[in-house]
Amino acid sequence: MKKVDIIIVGGGAGGLAAAIEAKRTDRDKSVTVLEHLPRVGKKILATGNGRCNLGNLNADTHLYTNAAFASKVMNKFNAQSLVEFFQSMGLYTRADSEGRLYPLSNTAASVLDALRFECENLGVDIVCDYKVNSVKKADGFIINGEYKCDSLILACGGKAAPSQGSDGSGYPLLKSLGHSVTALSPCLVQLLTDTAKTKALKGVRASASLSLTTGGNARGEILFTDYGISGIAAMDLSRYVVPDKKAEIIIDLLPEYSFEAAKEIIVKTARHNPALPIESLLGGLMHKAVGTAVIKSALGFLPKAAAEIGAKQAGIIAAEIKNFTLALKGTKGFNDAQVTKGGASVKEFDAHTLESKKHKGLYACGELLDVDGACGGFNLAFAFSSGRAAGQNAAKKCSF
Ligand SMILES: Cc1cc2nc3c(=O)[nH]c(=O)nc-3n(C[C@H](O)[C@H](O)[C@H](O)COP(=O)(O)OP(=O)(O)OC[C@H]3O[C@@H](n4cnc5c(N)ncnc54)[C@H](O)[C@@H]3O)c2cc1C
Repeated sequence: MKKVDIIIVGGGAGGLAAAIEAKRTDRDKSVTVLEHLPRVGKKILATGNGRCNLGNLNADTHLYTNAAFASKVMNKFNAQSLVEFFQSMGLYTRADSEGRLYPLSNTAASVLDALRFECENLGVDIVCDYKVNSVKKADGFIINGEYKCDSLILACGGKAAPSQGSDGSGYPLLKSLGHSVTALSPCLVQLLTDTAKTKALKGVRASASLSLTTGGNARGEILFTDYGISGIAAMDLSRYVVPDKKAEIIIDLLPEYSFEAAKEIIVKTARHNPALPIESLLGGLMHKAVGTAVIKSALGFLPKAAAEIGAKQAGIIAAEIKNFTLALKGTKGFNDAQVTKGGASVKEFDAHTLESKKHKGLYACGELLDVDGACGGFNLAFAFSSGRAAGQNAAKKCSF
């Protein structure tokens, strides 16, 4: 049996960060990453549309699921520390107006290269094409009956985007060690809705504010599709979807204006040009096709021209603009999701060290834990920060 000080299961964002931090904490400790794909970091390459939105300057104040736990992790390994972590490997970042961090190279491959080369530089042993199927607690941990380690870091990710390696196989490992896993569902994923009102809008984008009748809201771009809605705001709203619970999505298509202001604009526009074709009545406020769908939904029919819109109709249309409602039918599945909602119960891990409260020397990090954040670099930020915390503490504590 091969004996290693620290074994990390999963060579994704969290696992590679854990390996680097463990070696930097104690160069004498042997660190092995076991990865079942032929290469580490496949998912990193797909992030941020190939640009890798690796963090967010506001990650420390962002509200993650299980916010108290996540904020303890993010307080120590905060956004500034993430920027410096990458700079220490020669990778520099730039933040956009919303604090989203991207590599200066604008390519995700450079982020993975930085992590891979640093692992190599530090002497981390990376074993690919190696799937971990069993973990047993002995004096330390026995992996697949082939490896023995003093400290074990589970960094297997969740169930989202399984083609990129995270096939959910970390959960049985956790359960076999007596840990609980909360209900799992796809998150940061497209929303399935009733499409009767939006059939003609396929491919059209809008800037909107969304809220779910069961709680939760999001703001940003949406994209109407043949199954429902996509786009950053829809993906963010998916964090609040409760599977199998009936809900409606209320879309405010003019979040910058109040109902009264919207009504006044419509009245003015109709008075100014009564001959305006009805399809163009809202054309100065939103995409023409969206405006037409809104008027049809509000009035139940499409008048011919603006002349038919008086104060009463303007009020009805303004109300529809502010409350364009679609029945939620669910979400797309794990294959389309960016993140998993649910995971290893955070009650069973110490937020400062990421160590299990059930087994000394066992750690978990990243998406495997029951922590998820919105779009914008928050999920990678959590994976890197929790991975670093786990790696550092594993190296400090392990005693082979
Ligand atoms: C298309 C897409 C785009 C995204 N874009 C962004 C973005 O721009 N910004 C952002 O913050 N987040 C983004 N995310 C989310 C983010 O990528 C994840 O939250 C993050 O990668 C989680 O890191 P992790 O290390 O916990 O898990 P992962 O990155 O999933 O890594 C887990 C690793 O463990 C390996 N593994 C699993 N089980 C085993 C096993 N039993 N044995 C051996 N190896 C195993 C897997 O192969 C994988 O390499 C995106 C996700 C997707 C799918």
